[in-house]
Amino acid sequence: MVIWISRPASFAILLVGAAWLLTAPSASAQAKDAEPATRQANAEVLRSLPFADRTDFDDAQRGFVASLPDGLVLGDGQRVVWSMKPYAFQQQAAAPATVNPSLWRQAQLDNLHGLFKVTDRVYQVRGLDDSNITIVESDTGLIVIDALLSAETARAGMELYYQHRPRKPVVAVVFTHAHADHFGGVKGVVSENDVRAGRVKIFAPDHFTEHAVTESIIVGNAIRRRGMYQFGPLLPPGERGQIDAGHGKTVSRGTFTLIAPTDLITDSYELRRIDGVDIEFHLVPGSEAPAEMTLYFPQFKVLDMAEDTNHTMHNLYTLRGAEVRDARLWSSYLGEALDRYGDRTDVLIAQHQWPTWGGEKIATFLKRQRDLYKFIHDQSVRLLNHGYTPNEIAETLRMPASLAHDWSTRGYYGTLSHNAKAVYQKYLGWYDANPANLSPLPPVEQARKAVEYMGGADAAIARAQDDFKAGNYRWVASVMNQVVFADPANRKARELGADALEQLGYQTEAATWRNAYLMGAMELRTGVPKLPAVSALSREILKSVSVDLVFDFLAVRLNAEAAEGKAIVINWTFTDTGDKFIVNLENSALTHLSGKLAARADAGITLTRETLDSILLKRKTFPDAIAAGEIKVEGDPGKLGELMGMLDEFTLGFPIVEPKQANR
Ligand SMILES: [Zn+2]
Repeated sequence: MVIWISRPASFAILLVGAAWLLTAPSASAQAKDAEPATRQANAEVLRSLPFADRTDFDDAQRGFVASLPDGLVLGDGQRVVWSMKPYAFQQQAAAPATVNPSLWRQAQLDNLHGLFKVTDRVYQVRGLDDSNITIVESDTGLIVIDALLSAETARAGMELYYQHRPRKPVVAVVFTHAHADHFGGVKGVVSENDVRAGRVKIFAPDHFTEHAVTESIIVGNAIRRRGMYQFGPLLPPGERGQIDAGHGKTVSRGTFTLIAPTDLITDSYELRRIDGVDIEFHLVPGSEAPAEMTLYFPQFKVLDMAEDTNHTMHNLYTLRGAEVRDARLWSSYLGEALDRYGDRTDVLIAQHQWPTWGGEKIATFLKRQRDLYKFIHDQSVRLLNHGYTPNEIAETLRMPASLAHDWSTRGYYGTLSHNAKAVYQKYLGWYDANPANLSPLPPVEQARKAVEYMGGADAAIARAQDDFKAGNYRWVASVMNQVVFADPANRKARELGADALEQLGYQTEAATWRNAYLMGAMELRTGVPKLPAVSALSREILKSVSVDLVFDFLAVRLNAEAAEGKAIVINWTFTDTGDKFIVNLENSALTHLSGKLAARADAGITLTRETLDSILLKRKTFPDAIAAGEIKVEGDPGKLGELMGMLDEFTLGFPIVEPKQANR
């Protein structure tokens, strides 16, 4: 998983900053009860799945040592970074009518938090953030695998461990993959000084850093906003609100940190001995993350599958937005793991959720996870070769009974529906080959014509009310979306659309879909939340990226209309890094060439990377830096200002369930 945010301030604001929430409209006050059709659908789930099997609850509690009261972790100024208290309502055994019982069960499992002994010398901190810390006791110290999302939760997790085990120094940190919930808390585990001094090594899969930061820079704003729909941080926890994130409770709201790895794993299989502990790393790029690896500990017969196996179907496509993942490759890695480690593993752990113990159970678990992704891949491809389009494939596919009745393959995080579409997208892209869909009218124009053809908004709403009573929520949500796009001020359409999304949210088994539906309902009722402007950038991120990528980021902010007809060439010289660049604007496109300076430029700029970073972080402006002598300009200084004036600022609170006010 991950939602990309950067500095503490933005976490506080984005991820349920308590102060923000107090002033936010109360979604729970307006949330409605389950309709009869929803009650019926949820009752059917209760009848169709093996709820009597409590093995997962036993495994999730096995080896429990202790936890923090209410799982509470505070940050600066007593700010709540993590708390399980808002989820206490989930301790009741039966699911309320407003929650899919299968999701309710998953939410109860994800509630279990604390320090757990996995086996001798292997411990896990679980449920104190979205992900896990795995602690391996090496000969003289500790090997820490993954560092959660926030420094505060990671620090609290380590302290919890030290309360019950000897306080030995951390000798190595392993980042299993390039998602922020596995490294963002690293400064809560080790200090940068200790890493620099060589006292701690940081192991990561090849290409870790570029994958860890690229996405958050180039498309960071869109992903942060969309991530709110996936994780529901603005939804109050409750029976009618947020209850889970699918393979963890929610995301923590602390300080994001990053320390660059010191040791990259570059071979497909690589055996290392770290402080007396043998670890066989297996690179699994292109599976759950573009840079990822699993770990096998022969001395302990422990297999750590990172995030490639989970007690849920994972995402081939994530709703926050990301490049789609390769299900075929993912499945093949799981098959390899089964073959290579299946008969010599006593316990399989992962970096989310609880372990699986025992050879036979591990083999069954790995086979089903392997076949889950292969099934989705192969059957989606089979159908697309028959000419089926994404939505048709999603509606046609049904999991085989052997997988459908296994809790670990149920869709709490990913779903069969959106994963099948991801397979289509991977191979064929967005176009379904029907030319009627090649260039349809944009949403507002489309909606206006559709509503006109329906006989106007009132007629559409009247008919949709009947469909709502009949439980046809998907249709009602779709039609009311059209009425709202035709006229966002239509209160009745917004309310009915919200009611339909809400019932869909109450019925869905996927935590991610529930959050999306309930966020949509909330925004239809109360509008787009006022979200303060926060930068997607942070110093931690910036110092890990090349100037090259910074210029790419500036280029995607270029407003083409403002740049129409303009031509500017600027030479950039960085005195600290020795980098040189030609930045060229023409044809409303900003390009750059590394390692060169143009013979004829409108301006030449000499500065340090540090100065550029400070400007990007809005700690100073170009004119300030020029006045302070930190930037030297040759030629026309006005050209730099002119270029910077053409760059858009992105705002986080863009509309999703209603039209944009003005199209750029
Ligand atoms: Zn994760």
